[in-house]
Amino acid sequence: MIVVMKPGSTQQQLDHVIHLVREMGLKDHVIVGTERTVVAVVGNDRFKDRTVLETVEGVEKVVPILAPYKMASKEVKKERSLIPLMLPDKARIGGRKVQVIAGPCSVESRQQLMEIAHAVKEAGATGLRGGAFKPRTNPYSFQGMGEKGLELLALARQETGLAVVTEVMAVEQVALVTKYADVLQVGARNMQNFNLLNAVGEQPKPVLLKRGMSATLEEFLLAAEYIMAKGNNHVMLCERGIRTYEDYVRNTLALAAVPELHRVSHLPVIIDPSQGTGKSYLVDSMCRAAVAAGADALIIEVHNDPEHAFTDGAQSITPQQFADMMNSIKRIAAAVDREV
Ligand code: PEP
Ligand code: MN
Repeated sequence: MIVVMKPGSTQQQLDHVIHLVREMGLKDHVIVGTERTVVAVVGNDRFKDRTVLETVEGVEKVVPILAPYKMASKEVKKERSLIPLMLPDKARIGGRKVQVIAGPCSVESRQQLMEIAHAVKEAGATGLRGGAFKPRTNPYSFQGMGEKGLELLALARQETGLAVVTEVMAVEQVALVTKYADVLQVGARNMQNFNLLNAVGEQPKPVLLKRGMSATLEEFLLAAEYIMAKGNNHVMLCERGIRTYEDYVRNTLALAAVPELHRVSHLPVIIDPSQGTGKSYLVDSMCRAAVAAGADALIIEVHNDPEHAFTDGAQSITPQQFADMMNSIKRIAAAVDREV
């Protein structure tokens, strides 16, 4: 980090800053300019609390140089990570192929899930999504089928070969969900549930981490860092839209997150255009835009009867719309040297 002193700051104030820097176990390199003095702090200050220096008298600002996350950053790993959708090593996300995970918002019944699973598989999906534990805003809304839903997902995998991606909402559910799922989804509302992040970091299945609806990209990457710091490097970052003042969409899908996350991190980036817009008629365009922007995968809500879906019907596309979308993204993928 660089500590910038205020114009007119005193030698005593500068000495105090130097004292604090050395107390942190770091080295100081003072540069006296014509108008200002700055202290370049030398050493690994990633885990030091720079806010301590921000309020010291005579200090104008502290400019960080290293990102606060490490394992998730490009500094430690230049090449892109390839994360398997299914262990040991099937359908990897982060390579040339854009993987597509599709399925209902919630698992509702055997017939519903099988019908959708076969349809998305037929159209070229490699993963099956579906919530068995649902984070609902209203406690009286459908909360998911629980373990029965997980059993149905496992059955759908057996029938179709699709990798199962499903949400885990609590630390106590991790063992159970790990038993059935190929990828554990940590939802937007749990992005900063640090106990849950630690728990999914301590189990072997890959994790699809959603960005919190009001989280910055730095906070998002620090959440990924929690999982990786526990020893699980198989983390995929999923942008699913953030809260803004807009009301023509449910969330504002921040597609610039794709190139920006690729710039600072080696982890693959997935786009969820369903939670990302809340409108089924916007999904197709956002899928094409996401692939054009370099997304490594898409996760999409598909329902065979959206009007009667238990959850998120308004943003769910039909199997036919899904198949049409798959065809249209193939052309976009080819234009950006990818394939679907
Ligand atoms: C979902 O995928 O259905 C879901 C609830 O996602 P999010 O956590 O992004 O809201
Ligand atoms: Mn949903």
